Amino acid sequence: MNWLKKSHTSRPAATRRNSIRPVLEGLDDRIVPAVTYHGGPVIPHVEVQNVFYGQGWNSDTWGIGRYVLNKFQSDITQSPYMAMLGEYGVGRGHFGGYDTVAGASSPADYTTVQEGTIQNMLASEIVGGRLPEENGQRLYFVYLPANVASQFDVDHGFLGHHRSFQMQMPHTINLGFTQFTYYTTDTVYYAVIPNPVGNATWPGLNSFQQQTKVSSHELAEAVTNPDLSGGWWDSDRYIYIHSPLGWYATPNPHYGDEIGDYANNDVVSFVANGTTYTVQKEWSAYLGYSIIARGNSEWWLNQPTSGWPFTHTWSYGVQFNNGPAETLHRGIGVDGAFYMNWEISPGDYSGWFTLA
Ligand SMILES: [Zn+2]
Repeated sequence: MNWLKKSHTSRPAATRRNSIRPVLEGLDDRIVPAVTYHGGPVIPHVEVQNVFYGQGWNSDTWGIGRYVLNKFQSDITQSPYMAMLGEYGVGRGHFGGYDTVAGASSPADYTTVQEGTIQNMLASEIVGGRLPEENGQRLYFVYLPANVASQFDVDHGFLGHHRSFQMQMPHTINLGFTQFTYYTTDTVYYAVIPNPVGNATWPGLNSFQQQTKVSSHELAEAVTNPDLSGGWWDSDRYIYIHSPLGWYATPNPHYGDEIGDYANNDVVSFVANGTTYTVQKEWSAYLGYSIIARGNSEWWLNQPTSGWPFTHTWSYGVQFNNGPAETLHRGIGVDGAFYMNWEISPGDYSGWFTLA
């Protein structure tokens, strides 16, 4: 989700123990809220499928508008932007392909598309074989053309959003003399990115910059909280603050936030595969602040692509050259390799590398 509203609008209320939580991040006599894991899936190695939905895409005559968004997804999914999500059990992914749905039944310019219509379109494209079936790793990014509004985003004041839905997927097996069709219930993870032209805008960004900024937000959230029920989000309803009279609770303004929401205002330039993009930083639940890699691959040696999630992790702080405290994270991946994360100077850069 994005901007102004919290994404918990689409998830059931969480239960929480009614005792004061154990000490987590003690910071200036207050226990800060935190993004935590609630079970269920994450997307360890995402495959992004772009879907260009709406009649306006017919005017993308040379395909440049689609090319740059496809290249962005290709560059970002293979970059440190994904490897930085290691603490959430997520690593690098890739771009799978794209589909253009711009026929007469797709949204015309100056119309508003309903969420159910988007979901039905995705299901139809998947059943029809024009998009690959979900496999637990695929994330479908629906890009709307200029002057098409998304009802869900209008209703919530979002610049984009991510959700999931379930569909029945037919499968046919040939028994030699007859064919037999059975159905599986597939959970489809998707994001919707309206075009800034004719819709709400982020101050100071051009249209492409807003599309990549919002896409990075939804990408980081969707891979860490794909079904909006389990996954990583902040389920603390209250912040506990220590005063001379004791502890008291105040409502947590971040309740329901996912990692993209925590980093929503941290807009930065990020180099992925040699191209500079406008993205958000990423919230580190462990560190308690937003981080971004330099995008310099030299810091990303032997990054884990198969070791997630870690079976054991531990961390400790160290100090280099009398500078600010640095943090090292170490872990053993499910592939048995030993990994270390080297996070230097808040907001500067970090990298994963294997020790052995
Ligand atoms: Zn969000």
